[in-house]
Amino acid sequence: MKAEIIAVGTELLIGQITNTNARYISEKLNEYGVSVFFHTVVGDNNGRIKEVLHTALSRSDIVVITGGLGPTEDDLTKEAVCEYLDIRLEIDEDILSSIEEYFKNRNITMVQSNIKQAYVPAGSVVLYNQKGTAPGFFIDHNEKKIVILPGPPVEMEPMFDDYLKKYIAKEATVYSRFINIFGVGESIAEERILDLIHRQSGITLATYANFGQVTIRVTTIAENSAEGEKKLKSTIDELHTRFGNDIYTDEDKSLSEKVAELLCKNSKTICVAESCTGGLVSKMLTDRAGASKFFLGGIVAYSNFFKMIYLSIPGEVLEKHGAVSEAVCRSMAENAVRMTNADIGLSVTGIAGPGGSTAEKPVGTVYIGICSKGTTRVKKCSFNGDRNKIRNMAAAASLDMIRRELL
Ligand code: ATP
Repeated sequence: MKAEIIAVGTELLIGQITNTNARYISEKLNEYGVSVFFHTVVGDNNGRIKEVLHTALSRSDIVVITGGLGPTEDDLTKEAVCEYLDIRLEIDEDILSSIEEYFKNRNITMVQSNIKQAYVPAGSVVLYNQKGTAPGFFIDHNEKKIVILPGPPVEMEPMFDDYLKKYIAKEATVYSRFINIFGVGESIAEERILDLIHRQSGITLATYANFGQVTIRVTTIAENSAEGEKKLKSTIDELHTRFGNDIYTDEDKSLSEKVAELLCKNSKTICVAESCTGGLVSKMLTDRAGASKFFLGGIVAYSNFFKMIYLSIPGEVLEKHGAVSEAVCRSMAENAVRMTNADIGLSVTGIAGPGGSTAEKPVGTVYIGICSKGTTRVKKCSFNGDRNKIRNMAAAASLDMIRRELL
């Protein structure tokens, strides 16, 4: 089944907003095994909306359209689609009363133009909007499925989840699991599973990389999740054998969630001393609720002055080895433990660039230290990429070092 996404809105064309709706919908459709072949953006213009719809229906089975469902004059999507398909718009009394209710509950006077939103394409399935007033629609037309959703992501995303995941999941009956790996590059990971990729016995494997992490998507067609799980079991077991502890999770979890889970499970506390990551490791560790159980705090010591005052790094050590060094990284981790009595001290110091490099310490040189049970280990890493990528890789590698310490 081929899908295509049309985002309607002149703001998108002039670069005022980013088309995050297309990204969201594509990601979800791909998860369900529906291939998205085209993304189109079109302005608020009746003729051009019909033109792109004509092209989309000539090449795709599912067309998802977002935006242009509001009450104002330039909201034309529903009208253009109905004109193109030769369907009339008719008033839906339930929607009209829910719009009236919406305004009454918020003490806002409803204006005449809001009634426009109670008109629905005849014969369509109405998708109710819990977060706003514009409903969405599902139209089955000559074997093609057309889905129309409002533009604001806060409205569109839950509607897509509520109505379409169920519908598409049923259609596609595709079941996927995601195996997340850290510490093995994407090409090496792919090479290790080439035989499984080529075997293709009703099970598809694909790799994706993101900031040092590699995800292997394992997919099959199944009647339900229990059957899907059964069909994928031997492949997942095989991946565990091949990648061992490099797999940080085979569940729908991020690396930071996994580390937080391990810290909680092992009843360990942690203190973080960060330089080049500027608090990113602390942020990731505290992203989810419940972090107070294990996260004592973080010290962002960027300048040498801060490292001396707040992390007690001796001036001579900084002078002799430089802030980006094995010795300073070691002291940062040890002092984080000494000063807070945490079970684990984690430190990161490096050169995120673009400036600040030397011949011996090029951009991307990062030291990560971990002090635990009276022992300190420091790892030297060399990351490639821009400042953002290097900082994110350093933070992810720090989380992975904590994870391995806890295994
Ligand atoms: P409303 O009922 O709010 O008028 P609508 O369906 O008419 O909704 P638009 O008027 O097209 O939607 O867009 C409203 C807002 O939704 C935009 O200003 C923008 O903030 C957001 N939006 C619209 N389309 C997209 C998109 N493709 N990606 C991300 N945000 C979007």
